[in-house]
Amino acid sequence: MATLRQNAIQAIATTEYELNRIDFRTAHLGELFGKLVFSEEVQKARLPKPVFKALQKTIKQGAQLTDPAIAEAVASAMKDWAIEHGATHFTHWFQPMTGLTAEKHDSFLSPTGTGGAIAEFSGKELIKGEPDASSFPSGGIRATFEARGYTGWDPTSPAYIRESPNGATLVIPTVFVSWTGEALDKKTPLLRSMEALSNQALRILRLFGNTEAKKVFTTVGPEQEYFLIDKNFLYTRPDLLNCGRTLFGAKPPKGQELEDQYFGTIPERVLACMAECEAELFKLGVPVKTRHNEVAPSQYEIAPVFEDSNLATDHNQLCMDVLRQVADRYGLVCLLHEKPFAGINGSGKHNNWSMATDTGENLLNPGDTPHDNAQFLVFCVAVIRAVARYPELLRVSVASAGNDHRLGANEAPPAIISIFLGDQLQDIMDQLERGKPEKTLAGGYMEVGVSVLPPLPRDAGDRNRTSPFAFTGNKFEFRAVGSSFSIAGPNTVLNTIVAESLDYIATHLEKATASGTPLNKAIQDLLPGILKESKKVIFNGDGYSEEWHKEAERRGLPNLKNTVDAIPVIIRKDTIELFTKYKVYSERELVARYNIFAEKYAKEVTIEANMMVHMARTMILPAALRYQGEVATAVNATKAAGVDASAQMEHLKELTRTITEFQAALAELDQELHHTHGGDPYSHAKSVRDNILPKMNKLRTYGDKLETLVADDLWPLPTYREMLFMK
Ligand code: ADP
Ligand code: MG
Repeated sequence: MATLRQNAIQAIATTEYELNRIDFRTAHLGELFGKLVFSEEVQKARLPKPVFKALQKTIKQGAQLTDPAIAEAVASAMKDWAIEHGATHFTHWFQPMTGLTAEKHDSFLSPTGTGGAIAEFSGKELIKGEPDASSFPSGGIRATFEARGYTGWDPTSPAYIRESPNGATLVIPTVFVSWTGEALDKKTPLLRSMEALSNQALRILRLFGNTEAKKVFTTVGPEQEYFLIDKNFLYTRPDLLNCGRTLFGAKPPKGQELEDQYFGTIPERVLACMAECEAELFKLGVPVKTRHNEVAPSQYEIAPVFEDSNLATDHNQLCMDVLRQVADRYGLVCLLHEKPFAGINGSGKHNNWSMATDTGENLLNPGDTPHDNAQFLVFCVAVIRAVARYPELLRVSVASAGNDHRLGANEAPPAIISIFLGDQLQDIMDQLERGKPEKTLAGGYMEVGVSVLPPLPRDAGDRNRTSPFAFTGNKFEFRAVGSSFSIAGPNTVLNTIVAESLDYIATHLEKATASGTPLNKAIQDLLPGILKESKKVIFNGDGYSEEWHKEAERRGLPNLKNTVDAIPVIIRKDTIELFTKYKVYSERELVARYNIFAEKYAKEVTIEANMMVHMARTMILPAALRYQGEVATAVNATKAAGVDASAQMEHLKELTRTITEFQAALAELDQELHHTHGGDPYSHAKSVRDNILPKMNKLRTYGDKLETLVADDLWPLPTYREMLFMK
């Protein structure tokens, strides 16, 4: 009888897939894009003019929508539009603290009371929902017996339609808050942080005489990495199915060492899947732009054109969702875990970040007028100062059990947060720090023109892939985010710490200019000191190297190696002061997140450990024992025939020894899981890290060794060489 594994391979070898599902000759990009979005264009065509204007003012300038008549008009237009697109239901779509998205559908149907029914959707239903939703983690903010959770319409992220085989749903992006107004989600703090940054950035812009800009947006372009493997493997690997990563699996003879995958030709089935993903995302208004093979076998990347952080976050959630859904249509499964396979690269999400005015000016673009360059230096130094002051906050914003496998493992930036500026910008900063900017005339530099300011490169030039936070021309790239993360958290931190620095700088410059110091002189007086204080966080060398770890330690940079080490930062006094000052998180909201992060870590690792025990006992051990029996029989038969069986005996000995060690490790882990790892969520997480994790690693070592000893036809689990290369 064939094993599940052999059946899976057989299926992959023989299944024909229908790959021609979209014809871009008839589905034109221009018509596809935003087809399912209640976009500005649709709003303009369908809303009364004053309503349209008020809504746009909210979206573009952050003005509050106070008139209930506006919501009424928007709801009515949305409903008609949605029904024309086949929608029968609407949903408030929100982002609870699980990092995933949540939805509960309500139909438009409303009985008339006389036996009929009409389609209805009121302004009230648009603005507020009461999904109750008491089972989401709240970190203690709400006990299940009290206060409901409420969803609230976010007019700045447009509603859209999600199609499904039988009908469609109008999706309304919302925040999710408690009865007391505390954020139970990831969107609310993100929106607050964007507002905080906008307020502070505008102060700087006003100093530079900019009276036009009404709002500053943070912009984000997240590059999403993921794996696609054949779905048949998923069903035969309970670890992949339930934990998102393989908990056993010997190193394959061929991995990524030939570097033949990165940017290589995209396999046909995968390319077909990508194209359909993109078509779906285009329809939803997600501006996906690039696709390519990544470093590991079966690993890929998709990246959009940047948008404001709120929209980019919603769109990244949609992107992950669509990837998973469409993959299935091609008999593939999309793995978004940070480390699905040990020993080869894991997946991350490069968070490209900048600030831009509502009039379209990128504040981190070096620009080519002297005036802009001075302004650029102020904004750039503000970011440097922010990262230097709050590296641990950035670190904790990317902490998770999954990302622990990746950070610092020579495939992703280390857990030490540092900034890469590149030679040219570094040179400028050096000059600025000395306070004696010299004119650099060489090619590739711009003429600055203001005597107190140094010359400026048009582009930061070279790249450095090993830095967690790199300046890349006209934006910073935060590279430590995990592939499965909601980018809301990291961006909330980034926005807030930069807001604090902009506040600091604006306060000084306002004071100096008020007392008569010219702006350029005031800048010249202020920035060198900031750079002196902050430069310890700048590192342009190899972030993967051993020397950097030593150097970073000498510089006193924090190195929070894992999630459990990082979590306490969330409730540190300075963290609470920072976030409450800018009204991004209240103390209670921070404590809630601290508890949720700890709980999530403990639960994830414990589930993995339980899964390992299960697989070890019911899949690996039986296979190993069957094989042991076969070898023992062969040894006996050989001896009985009077032939020397010493070599076979050695094999049996090694096999038996490994099985014994495997069983001992299994018993140890199993016992550990039966201990109570009690106390508060943090102590629990700590105990799980210190007691369970090491025993999992030990069990895996013996399990993987057995994979290399046991007969291939008896081995039940698809191997790395199969999962990564059979497509
Ligand atoms: P890389 O060289 O790292 O592959 P690109 O320069 O192609 O990257 O850009 C990667 C991402 O950065 C894209 O998603 C892009 O939209 C985004 N990006 C570009 N400019 C900005 C910006 N001003 N703010 C935020 N993201 C940006
Ligand atoms: Mg990049």
